[in-house]
Amino acid sequence: MSLTPAGRFAPSPSADLHIGNLRTAVLAWLFARSTGRRFLLRVEDLDDRTFAEIGTRQVSDLAAIGLTWDEPVEWQTGHQDRYDAVIEQLRDDDLLYECYCSRRDIAQAPRAPHAPEGAYPGTCRDLSEAERAERRAETGRPPALRLRTDTFVGTVTDLLHGSYTGIIDDFVVRRGDGVPAYNLAVVVDDAASGVDQVVRGDDLLSSSPRQAYLARMLDYPEPIYAHVPLVLNEDGARLAKRDGAVTLTEIGVERALKQISASLGWPALDLDGMLDRFDPARLPRHPWIYQPR
Ligand SMILES: [Zn+2]
Repeated sequence: MSLTPAGRFAPSPSADLHIGNLRTAVLAWLFARSTGRRFLLRVEDLDDRTFAEIGTRQVSDLAAIGLTWDEPVEWQTGHQDRYDAVIEQLRDDDLLYECYCSRRDIAQAPRAPHAPEGAYPGTCRDLSEAERAERRAETGRPPALRLRTDTFVGTVTDLLHGSYTGIIDDFVVRRGDGVPAYNLAVVVDDAASGVDQVVRGDDLLSSSPRQAYLARMLDYPEPIYAHVPLVLNEDGARLAKRDGAVTLTEIGVERALKQISASLGWPALDLDGMLDRFDPARLPRHPWIYQPR
């Protein structure tokens, strides 16, 4: 790949960015800029197609706190052809199979030997053509497509977590409603835009082995990962709207930057000041407990 390496921030437009998301965005920017990478912005709107306004507001909030990016903002809904082509390729390589399971079917299925808890039990993996036709008629809804994997676990290297081992099951690459699955879209988009550094909240750490596996299957380079601690409220739960002033509109740009700077152990610095001092080895490894004031 001849593209200059890049880092990125990729919000889903389900709600306005809160201070924790903004902090993750700042960290992604710091990781990219401090290593001479381009920085890209991608709105992951496959699930939230009706929330374009929120996506637009997220982008303007990121600009308001001073983040800069090097290419026009990408929207995943604009990449359907790209996802279709990869799904086609996987299908031609006989790496996909149809899955007719509902959530409940999966929960109630006996676990396959060696399969870790939380992994897809393999119910639809080895159906005959006749069985497939039967299941299709029975369920009356279009099937999801799963990737035929050859392992149960995989290990990725993370700049903050070190070596992380997690589940790799036959995960969904296209949902029954035809929407490309998150794990597929992320991998395909990162490779297409030269992203080789993935900085995001550590709630996504557990999906990184699946994504790294898919990247390998598609002959894409495996990115460097940095899963940063989430921001929690004073009760130790994930920060949410109900926790008070958490969005940029409510907090204000100056105060938000001050809070982010303080959460990283610095005095009130602007983004350039943060970039001067940024050292991944000294990043806090524990969640940031946010106290709205
Ligand atoms: Zn199934």
